[in-house]
Amino acid sequence: PWPVRLDDVSVRYPDGTVALRHVSLAVEPGEMVAVVGLSGSGKSTLVRTVNGLVPATSGTVTVGPHDVGSLRGRRLRELRGGIGMIFQAFNLADRASVYQNVLVGRFAHTPTWRTLLGVAGREDREIVLAALDSVGLLEKVWGRAGALSGGQKQRVAIARALSQQPQVMLADEPVASLDPPTAHSVMADLRRINTERGLTVLVNLHLMDLARQYTTRMIGLRDGELVYDGPAATADDAV
Ligand code: ADP
Ligand code: ADP
Repeated sequence: PWPVRLDDVSVRYPDGTVALRHVSLAVEPGEMVAVVGLSGSGKSTLVRTVNGLVPATSGTVTVGPHDVGSLRGRRLRELRGGIGMIFQAFNLADRASVYQNVLVGRFAHTPTWRTLLGVAGREDREIVLAALDSVGLLEKVWGRAGALSGGQKQRVAIARALSQQPQVMLADEPVASLDPPTAHSVMADLRRINTERGLTVLVNLHLMDLARQYTTRMIGLRDGELVYDGPAATADDAV
């Protein structure tokens, strides 16, 4: 798994909004870190600077071997291929099968002749089934994604990210649209995947309780500034 490092990163959007202010942090390979803060504090922006979607206005972002700011073309695809993304809105193709939704992760960042033909090899199939097994949804493989519950849909999205065989998982408010028991079970899945596969995980959360319970380290953002970086369990509500 890749480490993730921000050195004195600031982000100013074209309209002048400053979303991150001189943020420095280092996430070790295999670590699971929660990024916590109110809406508008810069959590999504932080995730988008890590996958190269939003450029740092100043400072440097390093993900594994990649200096994110300097990447173009094939190297940028390599970075994104190494990063599995999970969002609040699950972004599944509801009319397609669970299998097809997870298979998409295999080809998302490395299009090949097989993508164009929609052909999956034996290895692709095995990886898709293993990813679904990781989230406990093997029995739904031939069901339609649109027929699943919210928690199941998010698990399919996690399986889709896993089928990419990523080095890093970035989850932007993955449980914000789920009811509390379902949110807990999806967080538990993420934590289990982090420990079993040794993946580096950054997860944006606005609920500190989930961060305390399922991660060991918490990064607190307020108005784009890093206001806390330490153990999740002892972070107080001021974060
Ligand atoms: P969070 O994920 O914590 O809600 P965001 O990173 O989405 O925070 O937003 C941080 C700040 O940047 C907010 O003030 C938000 O309105 C602003 N912002 C986010 N995206 C854009 C954008 N594309 N253009 C301009 N401002 C933006
Ligand atoms: P989040 O807090 O999860 O980022 P938002 O509702 O703040 O969600 O933002 C939704 C979308 O709108 C994002 O793509 C974000 O970049 C964009 N956005 C947010 N604030 C602004 C803004 N002030 N100007 C332009 N785009 C914005």
